[in-house]
Amino acid sequence: MNRETAPLLRVEGLSKHFPVRGGFFRRVTGWLKAVDDVSFQIAHGQTFGLVGESGCGKSTLGRAILRLHEPTAGRVILDGTEITALPRRALTAARRRMQIIFQDPYASLSPRRTVLQTLLEPMEVHRIGTPRTRREKVLELLHIVGMGPEVLHRYPHEFSGGQRQRIGIARALTLDPRFIVADEAVSALDVSVQSQVLNLIARLQRELGISFLFISHDLAVVQHISHQVGVMYLGRLVEIAPAEDLYRDPLHPYTRALLSAIPVPDPKRRRKRIVLQGDVPSPLAPPSGCPFRTRCPEAMPLCAERAPRLTQRHDGRAPHRVACHLY
Ligand code: SF4
Repeated sequence: MNRETAPLLRVEGLSKHFPVRGGFFRRVTGWLKAVDDVSFQIAHGQTFGLVGESGCGKSTLGRAILRLHEPTAGRVILDGTEITALPRRALTAARRRMQIIFQDPYASLSPRRTVLQTLLEPMEVHRIGTPRTRREKVLELLHIVGMGPEVLHRYPHEFSGGQRQRIGIARALTLDPRFIVADEAVSALDVSVQSQVLNLIARLQRELGISFLFISHDLAVVQHISHQVGVMYLGRLVEIAPAEDLYRDPLHPYTRALLSAIPVPDPKRRRKRIVLQGDVPSPLAPPSGCPFRTRCPEAMPLCAERAPRLTQRHDGRAPHRVACHLY
C-alpha cells in the first residue's frame, strides 16, 4: 500500500469507559461504556462524517482519538505513528498534526486575547518560525478563512458566531495539521452561516489535503462534505458506508429512522417518516444483545440474545458495513 492509498487515520477497537463511583468510599460501582470497540479508517484528504443523537459517544470518540480523553482500550494510528502508544512528551509534539474545532467558538477563544495573539500562541508554544514569519503565517491563515488584516487587533466579542468559528478554524490550522476533529463545529450557527463554514471546511480539505472527522447530530449537515459516514448508537458504530451509498440505501433501522426525518424537496424521493419510540437507553445499563433493540421497529427474538457485529455487506458494491441481524 503506498502513502496515497494508505489511510491517514486508523482507529482499531477503540473504547473509552468511565468509572461510575458511589457510596461513602466512592468505590467504583460500574462502568459507563461511552465508546465501545470502535474501528474505522479515514483516507488522506477525506472527511469522515460521524453522526448520532446527543449522548451517543461521538464527542468522546473524537477526544479519545486525540487522547484528550485517555482511551481504555484500542489503538489510534495517525500517518504511521501509534498515537495511543506515545509517551506524554512525544504526544505533545504529535498534537501539532491533529487539532480540534469546538462547537462553541466563543467558549474556546480567550476573551482577553486579540485575533493576532490567539493565532500566534500555538506557533510560540511549539517554537515555530521567527516573529516575522509567524506574523506572515497569521495573515495567510486569515486570508484562507476569508478575513483580512483589519481583524488582527480585535477581540472575540467583536465578531459574529460565524466569524468566531472562522477564527477557531484559522487557529486549528496554525500548526499545519494533517487531521482535524470538527466537533459539532456548525451546530451553534444559523443555517446560512452553517453553509458558509461547511464550504470553508470542504475547501480546506480539498486544497490543503487535510483529513477531517466531522461530528454532528444532524445527518443532513454531514451529507455534502463527507466521503464516508459512520452512524453511532450507544457508543458503537452501527453502520459505515460511502456517503452516497448511505444516503441512497441506508441499511440499519436506526440510520433509516434518522434519514426519514430529513426534509427532501423532491416528492418522489421522500421517505416515509419513521418515528422512533422511547428514549436512548442509559449507557450505564444498555439492553442485552443489540443496543438498538428497545427502539427498533424490526426487532426479533435473536436481537435480545446476541449483539450483531459490524459486517460487510456481500453484494460486490461499495464497502458498506452494518451491525444488524437483518443482514
Ligand atoms: Fe433491529 Fe435486531 Fe437489527 Fe438491532 S439487530 S437493529 S434490533 S433488527
